[in-house]
Amino acid sequence: MTMENTTPVNCTEAVHELYSYLDGELTDSKRQAIKDHLQRCRPCDRAVQFEAELLAIIGDRCAETIPDDLTARVKAALEEAKAQETEPS
Ligand SMILES: [Zn+2]
Repeated sequence: MTMENTTPVNCTEAVHELYSYLDGELTDSKRQAIKDHLQRCRPCDRAVQFEAELLAIIGDRCAETIPDDLTARVKAALEEAKAQETEPS
């Protein structure tokens, strides 16, 4: 067994490495493994695209901090989704 072999990753691992993947901090073989997973796994692929867009927005506005209004909007959206889920009929 060598480090150069591409080991398949599962969803947990793919999500765990997401930020490293987007930041380009992974080794070539690891990147390839995650890429392979994303091609086969739709939920993970969508998660990556969402994160990539988010990072692009954040990167546009400020290199290091998340703008308050974006945080507030994400929080509001999450709370709204949660409220809809638990709302009694
Ligand atoms: Zn997956």
